[in-house]
Amino acid sequence: MTYDFYLKDSATSGPGTWGEGDRYVVGTELKLLFDEVCQLSSCPFDISDFWWDPTSVSTTSLLIYFVDDQSSSLVRQIKPNSPLGGGGTTHISSAGNLSEVYVSAAASDENSPRALAVLAFHEAMHNLLKKGQSLHASGGMGLAAETVFSNSRLTQKNKELMAAVTGKTIPQNTSFL
Ligand SMILES: [Zn+2]
Repeated sequence: MTYDFYLKDSATSGPGTWGEGDRYVVGTELKLLFDEVCQLSSCPFDISDFWWDPTSVSTTSLLIYFVDDQSSSLVRQIKPNSPLGGGGTTHISSAGNLSEVYVSAAASDENSPRALAVLAFHEAMHNLLKKGQSLHASGGMGLAAETVFSNSRLTQKNKELMAAVTGKTIPQNTSFL
């Protein structure tokens, strides 16, 4: 069984900054991370796959938005005074979780597609584990740490926590598709 996750590009494409090639590499890097989670026997899936810019998704499949920077925040559109993270933010709500990653945050990283994948996985942890700041201390460090970089690695605890929730129904906010 395949774990499908969805990525929505709401950022501005430009030559040398962000475009189709980058989206493909980010999706592939993120798939590698979820594939590692799928290798655990506690994960109900065998492998993962990603889809960019779906026109509609089941509201229970993981969905991560990519926006230019904090000033383009979607979270702030539904919660105007929400504090925002440096690389991304996740708003947890029973009406649908909303995760966003800031493309600009990875611009100076020597491996920006991998950095964006790492940021997306970090927000996915907040989203699926329904944890706010407490994730940073309780998520097994690695990709759950408060600050992550392109060379951050999945830890066994990261994988165990995520393997336990991939099969759960966790409503997502699809209103910005
Ligand atoms: Zn965080």
